[in-house]
Amino acid sequence: MMRLPEFTYLAPVSVKDAVKLMADHEPAAMFVAGGTDLYPNMKRRQFEPSVLIGLRGIRDMSGVRGSSKTGLIIGAGTSLTAVSSHPDVTGHYAGLATAAGLVSSPQLRNMGTLGGNVCVDTRCNYYNQSYEWRKAVNFCMKKDGDICLVAPGSSRCWAVSSSDTAPMLWSLGAQVRLAGPKGERLIPISTLYQDDGIQYLSKQPGEVVTDIVLPPSEGWRSAYLKLRRRGSFDFPVLGVAVALRMDGDIVREAAITLGAVASQPRPAPEAAALLVGHRLTPELIDAASDAAFKPGKPLDNTDLTHPYRKKMIRVFVARALRSLAQEPASTNRPNRLADDQPAATNRPNHLAHGQHAEGHVEDK
Ligand SMILES: Cc1cc2nc3c(=O)[nH]c(=O)nc-3n(C[C@H](O)[C@H](O)[C@H](O)COP(=O)(O)OP(=O)(O)OC[C@H]3O[C@@H](n4cnc5c(N)ncnc54)[C@H](O)[C@@H]3O)c2cc1C
Ligand code: SF4
Repeated sequence: MMRLPEFTYLAPVSVKDAVKLMADHEPAAMFVAGGTDLYPNMKRRQFEPSVLIGLRGIRDMSGVRGSSKTGLIIGAGTSLTAVSSHPDVTGHYAGLATAAGLVSSPQLRNMGTLGGNVCVDTRCNYYNQSYEWRKAVNFCMKKDGDICLVAPGSSRCWAVSSSDTAPMLWSLGAQVRLAGPKGERLIPISTLYQDDGIQYLSKQPGEVVTDIVLPPSEGWRSAYLKLRRRGSFDFPVLGVAVALRMDGDIVREAAITLGAVASQPRPAPEAAALLVGHRLTPELIDAASDAAFKPGKPLDNTDLTHPYRKKMIRVFVARALRSLAQEPASTNRPNRLADDQPAATNRPNHLAHGQHAEGHVEDK
């Protein structure tokens, strides 16, 4: 049985105290929110902090403020269950409600927070293993080793961004409020991430994410689709997050972001640009799905085969766009059954486990 190493748990009740405690204990300390990712990772010795600064007692970091008209402010400590069921989120930011509602399992969504999901560690088949397993293969550069076992000639780590909400928040144009020793700052979520499996966040280690800020939702529709092996719970091996601002049936603004295809969420701006100024016809949806296929470059370091995951980008982008074409903005409900497994309309049919997807997939 894997056990947690010893550590000291500090429980600040204000953001100011959390920042101060981190400044006092860095680099030996880490923040912990729900602990649903960090504690298992500590059991596998992927992280070995001697001090944990718990964020659960900070009331100011929890709850949803504002409105869809002015924009929503979601405290980073808000549980995923609360995010996925909040009426303003389900009614006006449906893709986010879907993404939050598809993270892991109900128990973990009750404990896990939106801030923790935004900051969740990148993943790789050679890294998310016990200490003994990793030792047997002589470790890798993300922890305890020198080389990348996926791409031995590479000087960087290619571990995969595996957050469900990050690509959706990116497409929605969310911002992130950070508090650190130098004060507060508000940054676009797109700049929180960087394409490196180890240093995947651009924020300073001493900065805490306090809020996620969503822009006003008027005219916007959004959808999130997730590919994973088990419908009950699993990390995404592909996430497709689409947000469209509609004027009648004409697309005025569009954003398509792919999850789990790189070390950070990967936008597909060319595909989004094709949509602007047009109706969502079947031909346009096909053209945009083809264009979205190009930026997604999954590697062979997570579940299901990478050629299959690449193929599914086109399929899932088309499905997401079709679902938005069919729904009037006022009924932009969360696509709760948007996951690949439970919904008959959203199943990667007989390819569900990648059996027929071996081989090389060319970029068109
Ligand atoms: C079996 C299993 C299945 C899972 N499936 C999924 C899945 O399908 N999709 C998915 O996205 N995730 C999944 N997860 C990962 C995890 O449960 C979620 O990502 C969850 O949202 C993490 O939130 P948390 O509050 O528990 O984060 P924690 O574990 O507390 O923290 C995660 C990381 O974020 C940092 N952090 C947390 N909050 C803050 C903050 N406010 N400011 C700065 N840093 C912060 C921590 O230091 C840590 O590095 C799964 C985990 C398990 C164990
Ligand atoms: S991508 Fe390479 S360096 Fe990164 S976790 Fe995987 S094997 Fe390790």
